[in-house]
Amino acid sequence: MDATSALLSGLNEPQRQAVEHAGSPLLIVAGAGSGKTRVLTHRIAYLLAERGAHPGEILAITFTNKAAAEMRERVDELIGPRSRAMWVLTFHSACLRILRREAHRLGWKPSFTIYDTDDARRLLTQIVKDLGLDSKKHSPRWLAAEISRLKNELIGPDQAASAADDARTKLVADVYSQYDERLRLAQAVDFDDIIGTVVHLFRSFPEVAKSYRMRFRHVMVDEYQDTNHAQYTLVRELVGTGDDKAELCVVGDADQSIYAFRGATIRNIIEFERDFPDAKTILLEQNYRSTQTILDAANGVIRNNTERGREKRLWSDEGPGTAILGHTGDNEHDESAWVANRIDELVDAGETSFGDTAIFYRTNAQSRAFEEVFVRRGIPYKVVGGVRFYERKEVRDMLAYLKLTANPDDTVSAMRAVNVPKRGVGDRAVAEVEALAARLRISFPAALHRVDEAPGVSGRARTGIKRFCEIIDAATELAAAAPPEEVLDKLIADTGYLEGLEQSKDPQDEGRIENLQELVAVAHEFTEQVVRGTTDDDEADLNADVPSFLEHVALVSDADSIPDPESQEGGVVTLMTLHTAKGLEFDTVFLTGLDDGLFPHERSMSKPGDMEEERRLAYVGLTRARKYLHLTRAGTRNIFGQPQYYAASRFLAEIPGDLVEWSESAPPARVVKSKSTASFGQPIVMRNAADIPVLDVGDRVTHDKWGLGRVVELKGSGPRAQARIDFGDGEPKWVILRLAPISKI
Ligand code: ATP
Ligand code: MG
Repeated sequence: MDATSALLSGLNEPQRQAVEHAGSPLLIVAGAGSGKTRVLTHRIAYLLAERGAHPGEILAITFTNKAAAEMRERVDELIGPRSRAMWVLTFHSACLRILRREAHRLGWKPSFTIYDTDDARRLLTQIVKDLGLDSKKHSPRWLAAEISRLKNELIGPDQAASAADDARTKLVADVYSQYDERLRLAQAVDFDDIIGTVVHLFRSFPEVAKSYRMRFRHVMVDEYQDTNHAQYTLVRELVGTGDDKAELCVVGDADQSIYAFRGATIRNIIEFERDFPDAKTILLEQNYRSTQTILDAANGVIRNNTERGREKRLWSDEGPGTAILGHTGDNEHDESAWVANRIDELVDAGETSFGDTAIFYRTNAQSRAFEEVFVRRGIPYKVVGGVRFYERKEVRDMLAYLKLTANPDDTVSAMRAVNVPKRGVGDRAVAEVEALAARLRISFPAALHRVDEAPGVSGRARTGIKRFCEIIDAATELAAAAPPEEVLDKLIADTGYLEGLEQSKDPQDEGRIENLQELVAVAHEFTEQVVRGTTDDDEADLNADVPSFLEHVALVSDADSIPDPESQEGGVVTLMTLHTAKGLEFDTVFLTGLDDGLFPHERSMSKPGDMEEERRLAYVGLTRARKYLHLTRAGTRNIFGQPQYYAASRFLAEIPGDLVEWSESAPPARVVKSKSTASFGQPIVMRNAADIPVLDVGDRVTHDKWGLGRVVELKGSGPRAQARIDFGDGEPKWVILRLAPISKI
């Protein structure tokens, strides 16, 4: 069999058509598990192998970084390592990459900072205070959601102000305009800006839009049903409408649209054919993932929605498989104990592995009951979401310092860090410096450096602020030549942060020290990957420096912390919310908390549109299972210490009764296994000082991964020596000589 027939042989007829289709825009609408993502990977491979496309002409957009990495891996398997120059990215990472390259056109420095949800909320809290608003009535969280909604609709502050027609929308517009101004002053963007700014860039600089359009001749989008207006507009700008338009292929399932709260609209999929009049639509109807029993259950639920796009009849060749098992516990502990028993039973019987098992729930807080029983039983597990590493206080504190070394105008980070650990800089001193900043029209951190011009600051606070500025300045200087882990190390030491934790008697502080160590290790690992060229994006313009590291950190999303099942033998059970489960598949699935009010969520009960969104979420959950599906509920749950009674989820009544076998009794106790230990990352290899290659500009070198290159610039010395090397494939790359796998020839 030749390579092409091998590429096409694993596909059914409509899938093959989708892979081979050329020219007009292509929409693939199909139910869960029908091979949409598979079609995308095969299409990429086919474009490269058969249609002479160059990898650099391919832009594939997926929903999570994890999905992007998987897609690149699958294409690698199909066509080998030529895939390196492709852009397989999320909307955010693709746009960030474009922005870093083009920021100068908008008058930005390329080192702008990305504010995440927490940073954005702090900034809003500040604005609410400054505008004298009541933060109980106008919570920063609510304002953040309103502003995000406007940004997702590509509505700017001025437009919002002129459209505002009542007190509420006027207030939002006011806050929005303040917020926007302060972001700009701090040289920062928030998450929603990233996409809107690229749209703005393309519209203001048609030649830039054209250059990307000429570059990306093939644009593909997975999970198209979850794109919002800004993302949709971006795709249109990228593809273009004229004679030079690129080829577009999008895949999605209107029944799996679950991000309306982020402005996603099924409209984008339902009206694709209207927006792209010459579009071709392909339907896929065979499901390759699940047994017929599981599909019947999923279809039974989703058929109750009225807003559904095109009708689909999903069928499977897998046969009926085993019945779905249901369990009603006496309470949440009973529910989770039953789940643990069932997992043990399936694993012991060799029917499934921990890594092929997932527990889904509606809200993050529900993980706790499962975690408790899993720890007791020694079932290895991992929670996706919850209090994630990057949300922990000490990690955020140190990142705030680090951000300041990359962007000296970063106001939110400076406010966060200036008195952490405590150095006598109270609210009053901060207010004085803020006033100075406003007077001089400079950023807050810039004003900190001119604290002597703020008369109202006490002597003690002044000393604290000066110390703070010294720390930042020294770290900034180091950051110009050193990898991020060294800068972090220095900051942790200089700030006295570590000392404070070490002297503390609070047992929690030990965990905090570990988290800081982990952060340094993460930075280290990042440097290593950049130097070896093994980051997820091979073509990324990443350097082993602070701005690149911060960018990397900013993009690590929830779904990325899903463990790699290979990393522990048998893998670990994954606990996650239904929202993070999209696109994934597992042999064994537990859909838990099926109590009315919990799922569907209370909040959705008053609006039919919201209820339909909950139902789609149920459909997503049910269709993740390959073989063993379980439905559980508790009936009684402790809410703030009081038992609360729930009726069965209405979705259960929508599943044909003969598909599910219910049990209600409390499960028998089982033998306790030993707790498994977590595995740690690989050690990082560094050269000894004596082995660091000595180079001159013009020297020729070979790099294990990038091949032959020529040195074009040098900086730093000793362990900090770096070289900029031209490998003949675009921008020359900076490498750290102590770490890079290079030798002089
Ligand atoms: P979702 O809607 O959940 O994102 P999907 O439509 O993207 O699902 P895939 O994840 O691409 O579906 O495919 C589901 C499973 O079916 C995968 O394990 C995939 O490898 C397998 N599959 C798809 N098409 C075929 C085929 N023609 N032959 C064999 N296996 C297939
Ligand atoms: Mg998919």
